[in-house]
Amino acid sequence: MNIRLLLLTSFTTLLFSTTVVGQDDNKNADRTKLMDERVLELMADRVIKTDIATEKIATLEEIFLEEQEDLLFPADELYGSNWNDRWVDPFKTDNSNVTFPDSCEIDCSSFIIPIDSDLRVTSIYGPRRRRMHRGIDLKVQVGDTIRAAFSGKVRIRNFERRGYGNYLVVRHPNGLETVYGHLSGFLVDVNDIVRAGDPIALGGNTGRSTGSHLHFETRFLGQAIDPAEIIDFKNGVPHKDLYVFRNVKINGRNSNIYTSSTNQLAYHQVRSGDTLSSIARRYGTTVGELCRLNGLKSTSILRIGQSIRCSVASGVQPTVPNNVVTTVTQKTVTQKADGTPTYHRIESGDTLSSIAKKYGTTVSHLCELNNFTKTTILKLGISIRCS
Ligand SMILES: [Zn+2]
Repeated sequence: MNIRLLLLTSFTTLLFSTTVVGQDDNKNADRTKLMDERVLELMADRVIKTDIATEKIATLEEIFLEEQEDLLFPADELYGSNWNDRWVDPFKTDNSNVTFPDSCEIDCSSFIIPIDSDLRVTSIYGPRRRRMHRGIDLKVQVGDTIRAAFSGKVRIRNFERRGYGNYLVVRHPNGLETVYGHLSGFLVDVNDIVRAGDPIALGGNTGRSTGSHLHFETRFLGQAIDPAEIIDFKNGVPHKDLYVFRNVKINGRNSNIYTSSTNQLAYHQVRSGDTLSSIARRYGTTVGELCRLNGLKSTSILRIGQSIRCSVASGVQPTVPNNVVTTVTQKTVTQKADGTPTYHRIESGDTLSSIAKKYGTTVSHLCELNNFTKTTILKLGISIRCS
């Protein structure tokens, strides 16, 4: 072989090898770079994922802490520092620090019916004989489990011989307070935190009660709201998840009585010196209307402490289109076209069907309006809604 050729071949081989080695180096470097990038990417991804997870945990923790705080200081934005274990209306002795809002939206979605047995309403909300019945009565047996209607914190555990008997008041983060009366025993104490559905007491017949039942109240800033406005007591569920309760305006001023219905009803407790016409003036209504709502005569003597139903003309009257005349309106003797409800006070001898006949309606409709069953016993003196 020619030495020159040998040298050239060697050189070329060397060059070639060098080139190959160089290519390998480049490839390796590229690979390392790619891997580095991938690792960085993965790491970044992991960091982000960890961040998201941490954030999620933080959010969950926050929610949990917020819930805990809500339960520790239920609805403090409404009630402020007011927390006493004496008065069902927490502002009974002092309402100087409370602002009664014009309206309030209340989440009732987590409601649990406080009794386990079949639902039977034995007495509805409203004036009852001389007194105002500020709750609804549900049939229970002595010793039956009574449950918290919403999560909250127990504010009162007390005994009232002439009234509630053994009773509990629970304040809830949604702004409501619930009252459970005539209990035979307690399962919780003041300041205990309870969850919706937790057993809190045993049903009974203590206090002013004939026959075991649960007296159940819903209150907002101390003011009783008809529980049947919130709960469908036929099915044991809220009518709606969210309620807007409005401060009833009496003669243009806030009365601090709350209702969610458009037919705003207020009740006036008769005080010394009251007359039907002074009450009518105060509530922006007429003596005739008061007599009609309460089954009174204009000459009836009012007793101190008696509750008078006063319908307040609401700002938003349901409008009935002119071209639609419902058969119900035509058939019904006493129903007004503006949807004002009609009430009938139970007299001796009344039956659901006799009342239905009188008001041109049906027994089922009466049951629906008053959360009755067809076998509900009508108590003398109570008012039932007929339209
Ligand atoms: Zn009751």
